[in-house]
Parts: sequence; structure tokens; C-alpha cells
Amino acid sequence: MSRNASALILMWLGVHMVLGQVSPALADSDRQAERQALVQSLRGVAPDLMIDDPNVRAAMLHVPRHRFVPDGLQNQAYLDRPVPIGHGQTISQPTVVALMTQLADVDSTHKVLEVGTGSGYQAAILAQLTDQVYTIEIIEPLARDARERLANLGYDRIRTRQGDGYYGWPEQAPFDRILVTAAAAHIPSPLLEQLKPGGRMVIPVGPRWGAQTLMLVTKDQAGETTTESLLPVRFVPLTGETPR
Ligand code: SAM
Repeated sequence: MSRNASALILMWLGVHMVLGQVSPALADSDRQAERQALVQSLRGVAPDLMIDDPNVRAAMLHVPRHRFVPDGLQNQAYLDRPVPIGHGQTISQPTVVALMTQLADVDSTHKVLEVGTGSGYQAAILAQLTDQVYTIEIIEPLARDARERLANLGYDRIRTRQGDGYYGWPEQAPFDRILVTAAAAHIPSPLLEQLKPGGRMVIPVGPRWGAQTLMLVTKDQAGETTTESLLPVRFVPLTGETPR
């Protein structure tokens, strides 16, 4: 893409934000130039996996990633890499967040479940696309911090829960979209059950710390699921007490 075309896209995104078409209304112009540079640098990982959804790019441009990383690591917030958030966990690399969000293909009518709240950043990105975001984190201090952080940033519609996301959120099911941001050894059957007909799930699958694959699971109107392997990835493992 030429520099002129990139500039046009950013100008277009800017216009949309000024017009208030990106929600929720989180006015944080802090470090906007760094976010712009990051979003402009996000391309994709393959010709058929380009990051080209304008709504996803607008969401990435809007959410202040530096507010989701620990104080001492804020200088890394706008690099395209994962950043440690404590307890052996990370906030995912921006390219991965953007790709997973784009693959989920979220619209404003969708009810979305995220497994693996971590810092809350991915949930905030999803909340730019729909008001119905539910997110589960298994590590209590991370769940508590993310809940507070999201509330402080004005994301008061995101529903958070501390618990084992392997089992999903049965009381709120079914979901149009499910994103799992930790690697599962297999696709959890409770999540498959909680996916609506016509729904999509994006999930990394593979051994702990080994070769993992980002998968797209789609469920048709008859309830039949199809699984597509998209690309090799490296995620922290989905943990919990039961064998995964
Ligand atoms: N989405 C996060 C963000 O935007 O910061 C990053 C997620 S981090 C790569 C993976 C997260 O999944 C960690 O916070 C980890 O504690 C959490 N996790 C692992 N197993 C889980 C489980 N069974 N249920 C819920 N969360 C889990």
C-alpha cells in the first residue's frame, strides 16, 4: 500500500473518531501518535491474513494500550510484541489481537465471550465493536485488576468474571463469537456447545509451549462445526484443574 493510501486510511479513521462512530466514548488522546504509528505498521501475516478491516483498525487506534501494561513497561506498549503483565502472563502482540478480532468478524449485534481476560486489552478492543462483551480470567489478581482497569477507562458494559473459562459462561450462553486467548490442548466441548448456530470461535490449539495453531471454528445453522487451521502461533497455555 502506498504512503498516500495509508495516510488516507488514517485520515478516514480520524474522521470516524471525530464523528463519534467508535464506541464507547473513551476520550484518550494520550500517546495517539504512537498508536497511529503502530496501527499504520500492522499489516498481517500472509496475503490471505491481512489486517484490513477498518473497524478493527479503528478499535486498535482508539484503545490506549499503554493503560493495559504495567507501569515499568509502558515504553513497550506501542511495539508490535507481547508484554509481560505479571503472574507469568502476557498481553498479546497487537498483530495477534488485530488478527483474532478480524477473524471473529464481530458486529454490533453480537454477544461475545473472551476466555483469558489478562490485562483486559482484547476485551476493550471487542467493546469497540459490540456492547455485549463477556470475559473470563482464571488468575484472581489479574481478573480483579482488569475489572478495575476497564471500569476506570469507562468500559462499564464489559462483564468480567474470575473462573475457569474452559467451561465458558453457561448462564450467558449462547454466544455469537468466542475468542480464546490461551492455547488449549483441544477445543473445549463446553465452548463448542455455547457457540450459537452461525457463530465463530477463534482459538489457539496445541501443546503447552509447543507448536500451536490458530484455528477458526464455524458452526452452521444446523449446528455442524467446521474447523480451519490458519497459522502457527505461540500462546501461554489454557490452565485449570481438569485435564485439558
Ligand atoms: N487477552 C489478554 C489481554 O488482552 O491482555 C491476554 C491473554 S494472555 C495471552 C492469556 C490469559 O488467559 C492469561 O491471563 C491467563 O491467566 C488466562 N487463562 C489461562 N487459562 C485460563 C482459563 N482456563 N480460564 C480463563 N483464563 C485463562
